[in-house]
Amino acid sequence: MLFFGHTGTTLGLLWLLNKIVFKKKQPDYRLAFLGSILPDIIDKPLGLILLRYNLGDGRAFAHTIIFPVLLFIIGFYFARRKENNLLLLNFCVAGHLVLDQMWLEPKVLFWPAYGIIFPYHRGDTFWVWFYQWLSQLKFNPQVFVPEIMGFTILLVMFIYLVKNKKTSIFIWQGKFF
Ligand SMILES: [Zn+2]
Repeated sequence: MLFFGHTGTTLGLLWLLNKIVFKKKQPDYRLAFLGSILPDIIDKPLGLILLRYNLGDGRAFAHTIIFPVLLFIIGFYFARRKENNLLLLNFCVAGHLVLDQMWLEPKVLFWPAYGIIFPYHRGDTFWVWFYQWLSQLKFNPQVFVPEIMGFTILLVMFIYLVKNKKTSIFIWQGKFF
């Protein structure tokens, strides 16, 4: 799953959950947006550019189970001080790993249980990855369907904010309604 698939699905689910379960209390949607794509923000530049010869893949440290667990431990500490933001971030990072179907790559997900070295299975450069990404976006329904869905969800949310004159409350407080 790529950018819009991750961000749109996560924000859409969170909005739905918010409407049904939490009702009035709103999470910071800006933070949810960040968390939903954070593993890629960290791993793509790291694996495909900076540590290309060591990792050679866009899924590394931030796609392991250790990453959300660490965030959860730190978030739990702050939650006791009534700051739940890190827990939300952790929740969305964990969601990213689920949407990436990381159980299909157990050597990455359970790193370092299978060995300290990440599987160097593709040896991609950034541009190889980018062109694969473009062609998958065009031809692979498993890729383009979630992307279109995610884009549509974000668009609907954006229109909602503009129509209800809530763009500034979203920008400054991360709230929708
Ligand atoms: Zn990812």
